[in-house]
Amino acid sequence: MRIFSPFLILVLGFWFSPQVASANELRCLATTGMIGDLVQAVIGQRGTVEVLMSSGVDPHLYQPTRSDLAKVLASDVIFYNGLHLEGRMDEAFTRARQSGRSVCAVAEQLPKQLLLHEGDDPDAHDPHVWMDPQRWRRVLLAIRDRCVLLDPDGQEIYESNTNAYIKQMDDLDAYALEVLRSVPEDARVLVTAHDAFGYFGKRFGFEVVGLQGISTESEASVQDVNRLVDLLVQREIPAIFVESTVPEKGIRALIEGAKSRGHTVQVGGSLFSDAMGDAGSWSGTYLGMIDHNVTTVARALGGSAPTNGWRSTQNVSSSESAP
Ligand SMILES: [Zn+2]
Repeated sequence: MRIFSPFLILVLGFWFSPQVASANELRCLATTGMIGDLVQAVIGQRGTVEVLMSSGVDPHLYQPTRSDLAKVLASDVIFYNGLHLEGRMDEAFTRARQSGRSVCAVAEQLPKQLLLHEGDDPDAHDPHVWMDPQRWRRVLLAIRDRCVLLDPDGQEIYESNTNAYIKQMDDLDAYALEVLRSVPEDARVLVTAHDAFGYFGKRFGFEVVGLQGISTESEASVQDVNRLVDLLVQREIPAIFVESTVPEKGIRALIEGAKSRGHTVQVGGSLFSDAMGDAGSWSGTYLGMIDHNVTTVARALGGSAPTNGWRSTQNVSSSESAP
C-alpha cells in the first residue's frame, strides 16, 4: 500500500472552512455531491459552491423545486453531470443558459471513446462516470478550465488546487487497483440494485450486473429478478450490494429468490452509487465515497483491505492490512 501524502489535510481544510463570497468571487452551483466536491477542490476559498442534491437523493428522479430554480439563476456557473443523469432538469439548464449563466455538463466534456454505451444505442451513454477515478479526473480538469475561463485572475490558484487534488485521486485509484486485485478472480462479480457501476467494472476488472438498468426510472421486472437469481445460484455469488439512493426491496427479492433455491447470498454492504454519504462524514466526500465502495466490495467478495480503508493508509503500511 502506498503511503498517503499530506495533501488530504490541505484539501479537507478547504472543505471545512466557512466561505463567504465577495462580489467578484465565483458563485458555483453543482447538481450532485460528486461534482460539487470537485468544484470545491478547484476553487478552494476563491468562491462558493452550493450542491442541489444531498445524500440519499436519486439524480435520475430528481425534480427541481422553485427554490432550486432560484439558486440556478443566482449562480455564475452551473456544473451538472449531463448524459441524461439529471433527466428532469433540462428545463432548468435551458433557463440558466438563456439568462446568460455559464452552464457546463462535466461528463460530456470527456472524449466519446471514454464513455460506455447504454445498450445498443450509439448515442446513449452511461452517465456514472465518477465511478472511475481516472475518468473523473478529466471532469476535474474541465471544472478547472471553466473556472479559469470565468475568473482568469484565479488561474494560479485553480491550477495548484487541481494538481493537489489529482494527487489524491491518483493515490486512491492505485489503492483501489491493489485492494480489488485481492478479490479472487472468479469472485469479481458486482451485483447491485441498478447499473451504476459500469465504469467501476471497466477500471477495476469486475463484471457488473444491475437489477435495474442505467436509470432507476424503470422498475425491475419479474424476469429481471429471475435472471439475476439464476446468475447468483449458478455462479455461487456470495454477496450482493444495496445502494444508498435505491430502495432495498429489489435486492431483498434476489436474496429470497436465491434462498428458495438453496443458495445463501449476503448483503455485502451499502454502496454509494448516485449520491455521496452524509455531509461532514468521510463518505460525504468524493474520495471517501470511492474509498468506502472499494473497501466494502473487496472485503465482501473475499479480498482484503485495511481496517479503515484508503484513508488509513496515510499513516500505515500494507503490512498492517486487516485479514
Ligand atoms: Zn444511476
